[in-house]
This record gives sequence, C-alpha cells and structure tokens, in this order.
Amino acid sequence: MTAALWGIGTFDGVDFPVSPADFEADTAAARRALDSLGISSGDRVLVIGVVSECAHLVPFHEALRQRGAILSGADATVFDAPRTAKLTRQLGARAVLAVNGAVVDGLAAEGFDLAEVFGSVPVVAARPDAVGRLRDAGVAPVVWAHLGPAVAVECAPGRGAHVDEVVWEVTEREGGVFVAPRSARALATGPCAVAAASLERGPCACGRGDVRVMGLVA
Ligand SMILES: [Zn+2]
Repeated sequence: MTAALWGIGTFDGVDFPVSPADFEADTAAARRALDSLGISSGDRVLVIGVVSECAHLVPFHEALRQRGAILSGADATVFDAPRTAKLTRQLGARAVLAVNGAVVDGLAAEGFDLAEVFGSVPVVAARPDAVGRLRDAGVAPVVWAHLGPAVAVECAPGRGAHVDEVVWEVTEREGGVFVAPRSARALATGPCAVAAASLERGPCACGRGDVRVMGLVA
C-alpha cells in the first residue's frame, strides 16, 4: 500500500509522505531504538518535537504506547521550553527524547538550570545542537538526530547514533553520510546527503548491529 497517510511531515523542506506500511516499519524501528535505551512498560517518557516532525516522531509515540510507556509531549520551541522543564520534573521522567537547541535556549532565557531540569533523568536524548550545552551543564545525553527522513538514536554516550538498517540503507562517501530507503516507500527518493560525519560498523555493546553515525556533535 503506498497511499500517503499525511503530507504534513517534512524534512529539509520537502514533504515526507508516509504510507501505512511505512508507519509499521518505522514503528518497528522505533521499538528497536527504545529497546536500546532500556525504555519499558510504565516508564514516563517526554518526547519533544514540532508538528512538521510527525513522520519522524509519531512512530516513537506508537512504539511507546505499544509497550505500555506513558507518553507526554512538548514543543521543540523556545516558547514552549518551560513545559519541558515542568513535565520533566512533574512526570518523574525516565526519559526525555529529542531535546533540541531551541528548548535549551528557552530554558536558559527563563533562568532554568539545565542540571536541575535534566540531571536526575536516566535517559536524555538530545539533538546535536543541544548536546554540547547539556554536557557543559554536567548532563550526559545520548545523541538523537533527524538525518533526512531517518532518526538516528545513540544507545549510550559516545557510541554513535544507530540508524535502523532494516528500513534505511546508510552509506558514507567523501566525508558525508547518505541515507536511502531500503525498500519502496511513499517517499520516493534516492540517497539523501544527511550529515558530514562518519560511520562505524560492527556489533555494539547494546546488542544492536545497526550502523552507528559518529561525529554528529563537534
Ligand atoms: Zn548501541
């Protein structure tokens, strides 16, 4: 089935249509990423994003629902940053996923202490533009990166961000990383250049065999 479920999701300014079969495959990929982070039933999880990222993030919402985790959400914007701080503390979050630079900017502007907001959260997954400032505050985030249409999720700090190779073909050439759908999807695209980074292959301590993207954060 290739009918698009929605056309509102985008990446790099282009539409990111998703078919029901794509959604199922992406949800299975999200399950594998959540497994590597040790997120399970009953865990309270805050996912930070914006509506144009729905094609990337809704599979994670569904994968969380399927395992009985408790999902909450906040916008990945400067204006909504206080919601991230409030929910992280009020939920007693086991994980905060996809923290971005805008939220860190907003927290700083509102006078929040990053260590106080995130320091007791077992899993903080941060976009590359937020990782450095979180580290400077004493938080040890894993990398969460939207690489074109794919979501790369690091299992533990420093290991590199896994891209699911059931769904995506990941290649490296001339210092750049490219991602392409491994099978037919509603998104018709060849390899997309997604990052100036490098790849590491081979088994990971988390048990995933999926390729790891290294060097997403300077
Ligand atoms: Zn791993």
